Amino acid sequence: MPAIKMKTKSIILLSGGLDSTVSAAIATKSTKPLFALTFDYGQRAAKMEISASKKICKALHIKHKVVKIPFFKEFKKLVLLQSGKEVNAEKFNELKDVWVPNRNGLFINIAACYAEYYGADLIITGFNREEAAQFPDNKPQFIAAINHSLMFSTLKKVKVISYVSNYTKKQIYKIGLRYKSPLQHIYSCYLGEKKMCGKCASCRRLKNIINELTE
Ligand SMILES: [Zn+2]
Repeated sequence: MPAIKMKTKSIILLSGGLDSTVSAAIATKSTKPLFALTFDYGQRAAKMEISASKKICKALHIKHKVVKIPFFKEFKKLVLLQSGKEVNAEKFNELKDVWVPNRNGLFINIAACYAEYYGADLIITGFNREEAAQFPDNKPQFIAAINHSLMFSTLKKVKVISYVSNYTKKQIYKIGLRYKSPLQHIYSCYLGEKKMCGKCASCRRLKNIINELTE
């Protein structure tokens, strides 16, 4: 009798953006996701990201949890966390405008706590090649480094993987279509209004690929 291969249990980091949505869709095929985590660290777009993530999870039949990280509100100079109309799309052009100290490091480590406690071996994260050029905490070297650290900080030796970190956003979009990802629910605008602004750096990145693919 052939052995039944059990799928590895995973926890998905989901922001509601393209990379994490496509990664979640892939994870439903190649792992057994226990749930997806979305973080509310006081970012302008928290409400919209949570609502998009809920829809994505519903479409993919994954359980969803929101984790609050209240201490970030102390970091008042971070533009991404400031509310109010005076913050507009032009505010988000440079790395320093959207940088949140150790964000991905913290998210992965929080996910590792959940993973060890609930018996998951894998943490699924997004990331893409273009943003890795700008954000050091999106690089494959960072994933390798944090995996090394998790070998010591978790007894289970929880591991982080990214299915899409070697691909560009355009390639990820195409992979997303192939995996029938619920791309219609994506939300990735820095501003956090009900409708994505179409002008901030994050909106422009998504608009460019959709325009290119539909030309
Ligand atoms: Zn936007």
